[in-house]
Formats: sequence, C-alpha cells, structure tokens
Amino acid sequence: NVARMRSFVDRPSLSADGHEVELAANIGSVEDLAKVLENGADGIGLFRTEFLYMGRSSLPTEEEQFTVYRHVLEKMNGKRVVIRTLDIGGDKELPYMDLPKESNPFLGQRAIRLCLNQDELFRVQLRALLRASAYGKLAIMFPMIAVVDELGAAKRIVEEERVKLEAASIAVSDEIEIGIMIEIPAAALNAGALAREADFFSIGTNDLIQYTMAADRMNESVAYLYQPHHPSILRLVDMVIQAAQRNGRWTGMCGEMAGDADAIPLLLGLGLHEFSMSASSILPARELISRLSREECASLARQALDLGSQAEVLSLVRQHQSRSE
Ligand code: PEP
Ligand code: MG
Repeated sequence: NVARMRSFVDRPSLSADGHEVELAANIGSVEDLAKVLENGADGIGLFRTEFLYMGRSSLPTEEEQFTVYRHVLEKMNGKRVVIRTLDIGGDKELPYMDLPKESNPFLGQRAIRLCLNQDELFRVQLRALLRASAYGKLAIMFPMIAVVDELGAAKRIVEEERVKLEAASIAVSDEIEIGIMIEIPAAALNAGALAREADFFSIGTNDLIQYTMAADRMNESVAYLYQPHHPSILRLVDMVIQAAQRNGRWTGMCGEMAGDADAIPLLLGLGLHEFSMSASSILPARELISRLSREECASLARQALDLGSQAEVLSLVRQHQSRSE
C-alpha cells in the first residue's frame, strides 16, 4: 500500500533486528535526481557518466563535466555520491573517437582499459571529479578492474592530477574514497589483494553474471543462463564481501540484483552494506528489509551457498519469505 510505502521515505534503512544498511540510487543523468530525492535515497551508489560522452560529436570538456558533478554533489547535500569513471566500449561506442573495431568488444578495450590506454581522456574526467569533490561527499569508482595493477595505475593518475590542482591552489577534498566495481570473475576471486588497495567495492552483477556464465547479457537466446540467484554467483558475492570485511572495507552492489526482492534477503545475510538500485525500488527495498532479521538471513544465505542450482535457491528464499509475511 502506497501510504505505508511513503512512510519509509525519511526512515533509516534498518533490518527488523536493528542492522543498518545503505539504500542508494543508480543514476545516468542529472534528470534522475528528482526521483532520487523524492524516494529518500541514502546516497548515490552509481552515477553512470557515459551519457556525458554519448549522443554528441566531440568529447565533453573538463568544465562541462565539473558543472554536472558539482551539481549532483550539491543536490545530495553531504550524502555519498559514487561517480563511476567512463565505461565506454562493449556495446557502447563513441563514433567521434574512431576506435579500432574489435571482434569481441565485451572482452576488449572497454572502460578502465580504454581510460588507461587513452589517459588524456581519463585525466580530463578525473580533474573535473577532483575539483567537484570540494562540494560534497565524493567517491570515485573505476569500472571493469580485472587486476591489481590497473587499480594502481588509475590511482597514480588520480594522485598526479591532484598534485597539479593543488599546485594551482584549486581546492580538492582529502576525503575522497576510491573504489572499484567488481564485475569480472578474476577480480572477485582476488578480492583480498584488491581490498588492500581500494576503499570500497561495488559489485556489478549485470556484468559479473555475464562474464561468469559466459552469456551475453543482451542475447535473448542465452537468457536462461542469466541467473542472479545461482550459487556460483552467490559464492563470488560472498568471497568479495568477506575479503572486504577482513580489510575493513565496505561492499555495495549496483547491478540490477541489488533491488531484487528475492536477492535482498540473501545479500543482507551475506553482509552487503550498500544496495544501489533504480530510485523507484528504494522504498520497496527499505520496507522489505525492515521485516527481515539480519541474523536469520545470515543462516539462510549460508544454506543457499551450499545448494546446486538457482531453482533450489529461489525455492529456499521464497519459503523463508512466506514464513515472514
Ligand atoms: C553492472 O555491470 O552490474 C553495472 C552496474 O554496470 P553497467 O550495467 O553499467 O555495465
Ligand atoms: Mg558493468
């Protein structure tokens, strides 16, 4: 019921046994902000910056980007805003960049790979982000990290740009968190080493499922393999959260799975801290979590990890849900 749902707008995101999580929003442009505020998001867990680069004939300038990032940070008024650096490549192309055709674009020069290779483009975006950091609580997130060296290289470039800005007396926050998306199985499997270098993780299940199942996320004919609740996926999610916890880091999730009512009990049980989803899913998620016991969900999740198929996991979760309704 709508009135009951609305009553969750300014409540903290708490489980029935008092465990606090963050329910954040995914946005793709400034126009999405109204809904984010209207639905009482605890922050922004994923700002996809691709829109700034698409549907135009040249790269956006530092000034243009700065204006957008600053606006979002100011509107969020001190709540955390995770801005993801450019994730182009794969199915998203930039005609004006004239990149070589690849036979497997999803396995090619996408996201951070492209940014490290064309670092002038990357530096422009980072300077805009660093300058905007003075206007709110910014976290910078790198997409498609596979190995620790990529994170090291990206962080070095951030530091170089910070030093240059500071030398020019431009204010940059010294509390910017730098995190990565976990959306490549190799990164999940090596999360311990990555957690020593990253301030946080955000699990990108849209790609993590695609790459784990070797099934194109856009291809209908293999859509049956797209199984967020499969134990193979849950085990990767568990490894990531455990590795982050051992290193004192927090873990979020910004793939579609984070807003899925059948996944939320499992994710809460596995210890996920931040759930980032479309703004319209936030109140239903907050209401659902308010009825869940974190402790019960932890044992539910342990059971799920030992199962052998998505169907078994779903039936376990739904059984649990029907008991708590
Ligand atoms: C993901 O891969 O889960 C994700 C959030 O990124 P995108 O959907 O933009 O690839
Ligand atoms: Mg992705």
